[in-house]
Amino acid sequence: MSVPKASLQPTLRYQDLDRAYVAGQWIAGTTTFKVNNPATGELLAEVADLSPEQIDQSIDAAAEALPAWSAKTAHERSAILKKWHALLLANAESLAQTMTAEQGKPLAEARGEVGYAASFLEWFAEEAKRAYGEVIPTAFAGKRYSTIRQPCGVAVAITPWNFPIAMLTRKVGAALAAGCTMVAKPAAETPLCALAIAKLAHEAGVPPGVFNVVTTTRAAEAGEVMCRSPKVRVLSFTGSTAVGKRLYRQCADTMKKLALELGGNAPLLIFDDADIDRAVEGAMISKFRNAGQTCICANRIYVQSGIYAEFTARFTQKVAALKVGNGAEDGVVIGPLISAKAVQKVDRLVRDALAKGAKVLVGGAAHTRGGHFYQPTVLEGIGAGMDILGEEIFGPVAPLIRFETEAEVLAKANDVSVGLAAYVFTRDLSRTIRLTEGLQSGIVAVNDSVPAVAVAPFGGVKESGLGREGGRQGLDEFLDTKYVCIGLA
Ligand code: NAP
Repeated sequence: MSVPKASLQPTLRYQDLDRAYVAGQWIAGTTTFKVNNPATGELLAEVADLSPEQIDQSIDAAAEALPAWSAKTAHERSAILKKWHALLLANAESLAQTMTAEQGKPLAEARGEVGYAASFLEWFAEEAKRAYGEVIPTAFAGKRYSTIRQPCGVAVAITPWNFPIAMLTRKVGAALAAGCTMVAKPAAETPLCALAIAKLAHEAGVPPGVFNVVTTTRAAEAGEVMCRSPKVRVLSFTGSTAVGKRLYRQCADTMKKLALELGGNAPLLIFDDADIDRAVEGAMISKFRNAGQTCICANRIYVQSGIYAEFTARFTQKVAALKVGNGAEDGVVIGPLISAKAVQKVDRLVRDALAKGAKVLVGGAAHTRGGHFYQPTVLEGIGAGMDILGEEIFGPVAPLIRFETEAEVLAKANDVSVGLAAYVFTRDLSRTIRLTEGLQSGIVAVNDSVPAVAVAPFGGVKESGLGREGGRQGLDEFLDTKYVCIGLA
């Protein structure tokens, strides 16, 4: 569908985004909450703080909009998603600036996220047309078997602050393509990005009630309302494993379909036979993107002994040169962490490691500029029993661990309760095959550090969650398969 040029003019100003979006209306809450820039502390907006009752009403709105939306043809839904995609791209710069202001990531990364986020709307606009059922060869002459695939119903999304637009479009693109309607609750740190996406949905012609954004600081109560409601058939959550487990339990009574994209603890393995330039570059990107606040961040960097000294020297030199600051400033590659609490958590992990014998090669403390900034850090001498090996760091801290053999490092890499992403740097084909099969994770990247893309399935094993987002599998989370058996006359 072609979109008239005039309708693609950038229209966003985050100062205007202070109300929640329910049933096609911008609504006030019972009170408001403040959204601050994590780099400067500046007050960006005071946003509607919805009550649990208002969240329940938003579910009603989504339920009312469901019959008409699910009755549209896949081609009609696809056309609206494509227009929404075009509007995201047309507003890319203001979306990126909004994201840097409320989330802190450098502007270049924010621009990258907007493109990545938009790609999910385009991808699912196409996949909408391919929700095929099947005809099954019959087992009895007088019967015919087939399947059709139908939208599950009302879906809810609960999303985190670290990728405030992409984590939302990855869910809503698939849900709307499948014919579901959705209520989305963004993280309280980053509601403006979600409200901006709702504004563009409205402009794209997403009908009232089909996509709702509820802003609230009462996350636990909102979660209970969403989980308890029999009208909600799918819950798609991205966030911490602890909250994911809680939601899993809460959804048992209404037996919802669940997609849980939870925490990771990615190992990054560098072998003696690796291309060292590539390994250094890959480790830098995987570890320091978004100031280390990504669920697929390298959390544990294992380096084989033959290459350890050279890798460590080159990696440490690069880390020492990283420019820290406000993501809106030129040349900054490491922004602030999301909150003071995040800085404390990262520092606790570093202190624990140092107390148990680790050594600082660079950084090692909160940044001297204060606020939410942490120094890019490299630690070595990491050993068993340190919290940093078992917890997601979620900050710009790289623990280096020396290893000798492939068998030893594979066992260590898998010795955690989660399994989202793993990285391998090697030029040995047989090793590549052994490790891609042996690593316990939903994603394995070989000689690459940015595996996430709309066309491929993203998700984890073990306590990293359930289900997949993106790829052709992403649509499945919002579709039920109905089996039809016809007896012939
Ligand atoms: P979080 O505390 O679990 O928060 C995520 C979302 O859940 C936010 O919207 C939050 O709202 C909400 N929430 C918190 N408690 C809730 C409850 N009891 N019931 C319902 N909702 C609740 O996670 P986070 O620390 O902000 O985000 C980082 C985590 O997300 C990391 O573990 C990271 O690995 C994971 N993550 C995973 C993926 C993936 O695809 N697997 C992608 C990105 C991030 P409030 O903000 O209002 O508290």
